[in-house]
Parts: sequence; structure tokens; C-alpha cells
Amino acid sequence: MTIAIVEDEPKLAIVLQEYLQRDGFVTQVYGEGDVALKHLLANPPDLVLLDLMLPGLDGMSICRELRRVSNLPIIMLTAKIEEIDRLLGLELGADDYICKPFSPREVVARVKAVLRRTALTANEPDSSTPPDANHQTSNANDSPAFQLNTDTASVHVNGQSVSLTAVELRLLGVLCDRPGQIYNREQLMRRIYEDNRIVSDRTIDSHVKKLRQKLESLDADTTYIHSVYGIGYKYEPSVD
Ligand code: CA
Repeated sequence: MTIAIVEDEPKLAIVLQEYLQRDGFVTQVYGEGDVALKHLLANPPDLVLLDLMLPGLDGMSICRELRRVSNLPIIMLTAKIEEIDRLLGLELGADDYICKPFSPREVVARVKAVLRRTALTANEPDSSTPPDANHQTSNANDSPAFQLNTDTASVHVNGQSVSLTAVELRLLGVLCDRPGQIYNREQLMRRIYEDNRIVSDRTIDSHVKKLRQKLESLDADTTYIHSVYGIGYKYEPSVD
């Protein structure tokens, strides 16, 4: 597996390179945006770690250009947590966002998670199913099947089920349609309420809380919905 590191701070690039190589990854390092884009298009790696602020061409433009032609996994590196929220709003299509300063170990873990997730999605024949369709998913460890049934407004785990409100059903549908994808509260709001109504962040939080309690009542050992500090929520089943 080849990971491209697009980062203009040499110290950071070297640390990332060392940790990734220690885990068996082959790495390519680019310090200039325009040079990086040319190489990435001509010779796509398995994943790109992409800094936002770069000489030549910024990370946002590189991400957009790459997305026009491929689903190449992209993890964006940003200097500010508030920036992540803005980037999410632009819907650039990056697979994950990591805020500096980061621990290189954390970056390697996120790289592996994104690679696992994209490998899973690539194997699903109907990965383009709209969020309101019925879902049957399982996580990478083949843990119990998780089923969302929109006809009966219920979710089934381990042969047990619990009923959901219309809002909870839509919320869970949006989140689990793209496992691992982080949504901020505004994006969830737009997807949940068809009438474009504006509700407070607290309202979204309380729906998520209820939904989590219901999922926990079915399967106390798995966390399905994770809070991403300062950003929002994502669906990613993980055994506690
Ligand atoms: Ca930079």
C-alpha cells in the first residue's frame, strides 16, 4: 500500500513517513501542491494525507481536482478545528479530517480505518443506495448484523428490535449510509428535515442521544454512533 503525504512542513512529513513505513506502508512525500496534484493524477497512491495550506496549490483545490476523477481515499490535515467544520460545509468529499497537532500514531490508525472502510465500500455492490433505503450492514469484524427497516420504522440488532421515531429513522439512515463519514449538525439538520426547518444544535444532540440509548438497549457492547469532538457525529460500529 502506498500513502502519499502532501505536507510542506518537512519535520511533520518525516515523522509521518517514519510511522507509516514502520507499519509497512510505502510513502511518497510532496511539499508543493501543484507538483503533488500532477503526480497524484498520473500515479494514484492508495491513500492521500493532504495538508490544507500548501505552496503552489492549496489542499482544498487538490481535493476537488482529485474527486472529479477518482474515489481515491483522502485524509485532510488542518491546523484548526474550526476549519474542519468549514471544510465539511463545503462538502469536498474527503474521507476524514485530522487536526494538528496530531500524534503520528493516531494518523496511522486513521489511515488504516479509512483504508478498511473504503475496501468494504468497494465490495458492496449497492454502495450508492439512497439513505432512505433499508440497510443491512456489518462491521469489519463481522459482528452481528445491523438492520434498519424503514417499512416498520425499526432497527434490528442480534435478533432484537426497537422502534424509531421518524426523525431518528432518518438520522440513523443518513449516518449509516456512509459509515465513518463525519457529519456536522447543520448537515444532519438539512438531511433530516425535508421542510428545511432550522432547529438548534441541541435538538440534533438530543435526537442523537435518544437514538444511542435505543441502540444501546439492543447491543450494549457496541458503540454505533460516535461524537467527534467539536465537529459532529459519525456512524462506525466499534466493540467497546
Ligand atoms: Ca502547511
